[in-house]
Amino acid sequence: MNIAKRILEGDALTPSEAYEIYTDNTIDTLEMVDQAYQLRKHYYGHKVKLNMILNAKSGICPEDCGYCGQSRDMKKKTRYGLVDKEKISEGAEVAHDNNIGTYCIVMSGRGPSDKEVDYIADTVKDIKQAHPQLKICACLGIAKDEHAVKLKDAGVDRYNHNLNTSENYHDNVVTTHTYQQRVDTVETMKKHNISPCSGVICGMGESLQDRVDMAFALKEIDADSIPINFLHPIKGTKFGDMDELTPMKCMRILALFRLVNPTKEIRIAGGREVNLRALQSMSLMVANSIFVGDYLITGGQPNKMDFDMIKDMGFEIDYDNLVPEVQQ
Ligand code: SF4
Repeated sequence: MNIAKRILEGDALTPSEAYEIYTDNTIDTLEMVDQAYQLRKHYYGHKVKLNMILNAKSGICPEDCGYCGQSRDMKKKTRYGLVDKEKISEGAEVAHDNNIGTYCIVMSGRGPSDKEVDYIADTVKDIKQAHPQLKICACLGIAKDEHAVKLKDAGVDRYNHNLNTSENYHDNVVTTHTYQQRVDTVETMKKHNISPCSGVICGMGESLQDRVDMAFALKEIDADSIPINFLHPIKGTKFGDMDELTPMKCMRILALFRLVNPTKEIRIAGGREVNLRALQSMSLMVANSIFVGDYLITGGQPNKMDFDMIKDMGFEIDYDNLVPEVQQ
């Protein structure tokens, strides 16, 4: 198999070819990883981008996303309203001090109110003044044009809104909003020159075909950054007892997404530690980006373990998205 060479020569995989490769049991997962690594190395060398999340508002959500511990269906709820601006800015300081390139401000809920967008925009302005080099990603839910304009003006670089799953499987995951609404939010951000970040959650009962469809949907939408979450089942959620991933299955998924989206930032997101386990370091052969620190309501491993993992693999942190501090 030499798909990487073919892709590098400009001949992209078709959906049916990707499905054949992904589902062919005679193709070893490590062979797929090897092909994906050649692409990763070509476009990103040995660099690893770092991202950090702040859960700026938790719970209080009317939506019924089956994977989410903040959904309306959760009996035991962790919830708090939008945190103080100081707390959001403190998170930015931590990101800056740890040389983390992108700081992601996340709010639970269907989408932000106008007031919430103003609040986040004001806070981002302050952060950007202190740390112009720090990239800011906002993840606030379904958003409108006016929201995108305000966020862009404030200095938001990127907006995350995951497609989460395939169009075909979407209604099994959530019934309170549509797949199209998700696509529309990504398109709104693109229209206003905010870098689109959109990814998936694997392991929610979707089929192999659904995963191939997800990889191509993200190619179609032209997401700059593709976070791949592996379901970390949370008790009390619809998918709380799901247990269908193995570390090797996760590797195969990552390789599939790289082969379909060779030039994109592929980021391993939530569920990395519990699903990839001992293969976390190997996953860097395919992905060029990770989250460090905790996720929204589940814990990550200590930062030092991530920094050591990157070093042990002979990889290095990608500081390219940092520009020098402004000298006074
Ligand atoms: S993923 Fe977001 S929209 Fe869905 S239930 Fe959780 S907080 Fe609400």
